[in-house]
Amino acid sequence: MTQTFEVRNPATERVLREVELTSAERTDAAIERAHAALPAWRAVAPGDRARLLRRFADAVDADVENLARLEVANSGHTIGNARWEAGNVRDVLHYYAAAPERLIGKQIPVPGGVNVTFAEPLGVVGVIVPWNFPMPIAGWGFAPALAAGNTVVLKPAELTPLTALRLAELAREAGIPEDVFQVLPGKGGVVGQRFVEHPLVRKVVFTGSTEVGRRIMAGCAAQVKRVTLELGGKNANIVFADADLERAAATAPYGVFDNAGQDCCARSRILVQASVYDRFLELLEPAVKGVVVGDPSHESTEMGPLISAEHRERVRAYLPDDANVAFRGSAPDGAGYWFPPTVVTPRSATDPLVTDEIFGPIVAVVPFADEAEAVAMANDTAYGLSGSIWTRDVGRALRVSRGVEAGNLSVNSHASVRYWTPFGGFKQSGLGRELGPDAVEAFTEVKNVFISTEEQ
Ligand code: NAP
Ligand code: MG
Repeated sequence: MTQTFEVRNPATERVLREVELTSAERTDAAIERAHAALPAWRAVAPGDRARLLRRFADAVDADVENLARLEVANSGHTIGNARWEAGNVRDVLHYYAAAPERLIGKQIPVPGGVNVTFAEPLGVVGVIVPWNFPMPIAGWGFAPALAAGNTVVLKPAELTPLTALRLAELAREAGIPEDVFQVLPGKGGVVGQRFVEHPLVRKVVFTGSTEVGRRIMAGCAAQVKRVTLELGGKNANIVFADADLERAAATAPYGVFDNAGQDCCARSRILVQASVYDRFLELLEPAVKGVVVGDPSHESTEMGPLISAEHRERVRAYLPDDANVAFRGSAPDGAGYWFPPTVVTPRSATDPLVTDEIFGPIVAVVPFADEAEAVAMANDTAYGLSGSIWTRDVGRALRVSRGVEAGNLSVNSHASVRYWTPFGGFKQSGLGRELGPDAVEAFTEVKNVFISTEEQ
């Protein structure tokens, strides 16, 4: 009997659709079809593969509004964010469509002949996607993988499969062969597990929690399978006394509460220099109370619901009472997995509010004495994904940027992701980089061939 899963709208709790869960057997069959599709896909001339990716990008472009509405319904993302996310898939496809003709090797002179290198595709790539950004994270995996001549099997998160299923339809409309890009909704422990175990999957691209990422890496070790990991974060937003405090406070809610805090790059710790700590909190309060929380399909909404009842319970458990709460914004009553933007001021650096990735709209504001302490506090975590530095002193901005162990930092800004720049984590926030000019190489294997020029 086929198993199904009820996909719900987190803003209304209503069932949107029943989606069939892919079994282990059907996952294996899909992987085998993806493997069988490799020779024909590799044989597509680089210019033709580029054209197919551009047609896929154009199909996404024509469908941006539909994809965005689907994401609002399935994930509770605000309509503005969801349009950006669909547009990001289009842009990433266009960006990597330039890659096939540029996958060039080297020629290296050696005695008695030459060595030539080839950038070979890896084979079948398994992409495992979390529920917090279903569209962009899917695209960051499949676009460079396909451009480099691999075939792709993709598992969306069980909670959020709808846009991935639509992207598979758009790929087919664009002329990408069915077995070259397959979307397999299902459970992590079934579909994702087969990506890890099946020997014909040559690389796993995983985005999700550090806990599951560790297990994926251990599983991949059995076959020395290639793996890229994009994991959690507990990112610091460091505000120095010399910063534009008004701007730092006005933008801090966006830095952490965007996507209801369900963002690996959420700046969920605000470290503020002690001399301006009270002033910063005074400025932050109206900004947090002004965040528009509600129906994510309204154009003016800034924050929607959490993804599920279960996840909201997880977030709630961090605040058994109001002891640490400084102030909070608003949230609707009634149906929907709502949680208000909340600012906490815990006294201890070891409080879980300061150390854990909560993945919800809770931010801890903590004082620091000087630059050295700010860097030490920012680094006092197993994670190292992103962070922000607010200062008007350019020397300090650079010193602190070099001192903080994180893959993506922004100065006087909260920007984390631009598809043409590299993205990824230090320490337990991940392994490898996505996006940017080098991501295609992560989907190739270098082959080195010696050709003798000796007379035969
Ligand atoms: P998760 O529980 O780790 O799940 C991520 C994906 O892995 C889902 O598709 C899940 O399937 C699947 N999965 C679960 N167990 C598996 C297993 N044993 N083998 C193979 N696959 C398995 O993460 P999440 O709760 O969806 O997402 C939140 C986390 O993602 C946060 O920690 C966040 O920081 C991280 N994240 C990181 C980045 C980044 O770029 N660094 C970006 C976004 C999110 P199911 O849907 O069936 O559970
Ligand atoms: Mg999970």
